[in-house]
Amino acid sequence: MTTATDAAATPATTAITHIAGLVTNDPSLGEGPLGLIQDAAVVIDGDRIAWVGETSKAPATDNRVDAAGRAAIPGFVDSHSHVVFAGDRTEEFNARMSGRPYSAGGIRTTVAATRAASNNELNANVARYVMETLRQGTTTLEIKSGYGLTSEDEARALSIAAAHTDEVTFLGAHVVAPEFADDPAAYVDLVTGPMLDMCAPYARWVDVFCEKGAFDGDQARAVLTAGQRHGLIPRVHANQLSHGPGVQLAVELGAASADHCTYLTDEDIDALAHSDTVATLLPGCEFSTRSPYPDARRLLDAGVTVALSPDCNPGSSFTSSMPFCIALAVRDMGMTPDEAVWAATEGGARALRRTDVGRIAPGARADLALLDAPSHVHLAYRPGVPLVSAVWRGGTLV
Ligand SMILES: [Zn+2]
Repeated sequence: MTTATDAAATPATTAITHIAGLVTNDPSLGEGPLGLIQDAAVVIDGDRIAWVGETSKAPATDNRVDAAGRAAIPGFVDSHSHVVFAGDRTEEFNARMSGRPYSAGGIRTTVAATRAASNNELNANVARYVMETLRQGTTTLEIKSGYGLTSEDEARALSIAAAHTDEVTFLGAHVVAPEFADDPAAYVDLVTGPMLDMCAPYARWVDVFCEKGAFDGDQARAVLTAGQRHGLIPRVHANQLSHGPGVQLAVELGAASADHCTYLTDEDIDALAHSDTVATLLPGCEFSTRSPYPDARRLLDAGVTVALSPDCNPGSSFTSSMPFCIALAVRDMGMTPDEAVWAATEGGARALRRTDVGRIAPGARADLALLDAPSHVHLAYRPGVPLVSAVWRGGTLV
């Protein structure tokens, strides 16, 4: 009998063979931008991909898994989630679906519930959502704070998030904390001062909700540049509900991503196209608020790098499903199935400035999902069907 200790000492190699269509996202390994390989095999060594090619050429390995004609894709890279929270917003959703418009103020409901929750309760919630995404094929998940809005509660949210992911984002500037409703400038001073001092050690990224009802361009700039001075890299909630300065600010500050991008001018698109800033589209939000979708086709045709994410949060998009977002992106945002799958994998990796995830190529982390379907196209073709049938994360079958 092999013990866990033995297995850790000598990681076994595993070949997954007879993959009907393998998406590698490495054009040098296969056909087209997705680097597609037919009847493919992948060899996993420890937590890394060791070899990729046709099944007939696969090297000998310790173990073999027969994919039996299923498709495989890189694990999804979800670059935008808000899963450190307590409570839910069933009533708000129900009201909205009965005809009331969504406004950013609903966030304060979750703030009250989150502040009242214990550390154990918040940690259990995060663990639950991380597992929920993993079962649906997401192997990298960014997690934001933003429902604490005090220095202590934001730092607590980030320390809990950091126990579950390396991609932690400080979003103290989600909305103005209720205690500062009459003095937003004082709240920005808090976020850029003592709160940032407490939060920066747990985070890689700094984010701001740049929108009417949240933070204007000057306030957003103050938050992002303060974060940069603490070594954090900007990402921005930009142009979600209306036209505004968020996208231009993201590009100007070298943000990794401008997220939402629903209301864009030609100048916004031009700025994105000539930058390294990814446009991360979050169609679960438009779905759950009955709002117009972002025009992915316009962005892609202009040469903008596009990522997809469910934006899992209890207010505007309480889905954690990347396959659902792929289906929406294809059906309602003008993306091809290939583009949507790329955006949900390599696109997300670009939005997190990661080169070790989002692709299946030698040296990459062994994150992949087998689909109960012969092709990745079925993710859009068969909406709502749970096609993800097996997931490896870091070489481990989940
Ligand atoms: Zn968000």
